[in-house]
Amino acid sequence: MDPASSAPPIDPSESRAFKRWLRTAASITGIGLTAEERSRSAEGQKFRNCEKWKNELMNYSPSVVFMLKHLKMSGCPVSPSNIACAPCDMTRSGGFHPAGAIILCQGHFMDKKHMEDTLTHELIHMYDHCKFNVDWYNLRHHACSEIRANSLSGDCRFMRELGRGFVAFSKQHQACVRRRAVLSVRVNPSCPDEAAAERAVNEVWESCFNDTRPFDEIY
Ligand SMILES: [Zn+2]
Repeated sequence: MDPASSAPPIDPSESRAFKRWLRTAASITGIGLTAEERSRSAEGQKFRNCEKWKNELMNYSPSVVFMLKHLKMSGCPVSPSNIACAPCDMTRSGGFHPAGAIILCQGHFMDKKHMEDTLTHELIHMYDHCKFNVDWYNLRHHACSEIRANSLSGDCRFMRELGRGFVAFSKQHQACVRRRAVLSVRVNPSCPDEAAAERAVNEVWESCFNDTRPFDEIY
C-alpha cells in the first residue's frame, strides 16, 4: 500500500508554515536543497573561507608578505582585489593572468599552508612579469618562471611531495620542480608536445633554478 495515500489531510496554512520551517532548516543544514541550491551554498562557503585565508595570508604569511613587499618595491603593488577567489576545475589550484590578476581556486585547498604555497607561486609569476620582459607564449620564458615559482614557493617541500606519493629522497626537490614545470609548460597554448616542454625546461634549467630573486635562497 502507498503510505502517502493513508496520511491524514493537512491544513494548507500549516503546510505552508511547515515548508517555510523546512526551508530555513535546509538553508542551515543543507538538507532538502536541490542540487543547484546545495552547490550554490557550498560554493558560498568555499568562497568565504578562501577570502578569509587570503586576507590572513596577505597580512601574516612570511612568504606572501615578502613577495607583496618586493612587488610593491618593483612598482607593481598588489591589492586584495587583484587576487580573486573563484571556483575552478579541480585540475588546478591557482592561476596568474598577465593583466595583473591572480586566481585562487576556492575549495581546492587542503589547508591554509597549501593556499600559502599556491599564492606565493602565483606572486612569483607576477614578480617575473613585473621585473622582466616576459613573453608568456615563449616556452623558455614560461619554463623559467615555472622553475622559479615551483622551487621558491614551497610547492616542492618534502611533506607535500610525500602527500602526492613521491618518496624518492635523492634530488627530490629538483625532480619535483622539473616535473611540475614541464606539466605547466605543456599546457601553454604554444607548446606542441611533451618533448617541447621538456626541452624548454632543460634549456633554461641552470640559470633559472639558480635565480632565486627576490629570495636570498630556497627556504
Ligand atoms: Zn605556475
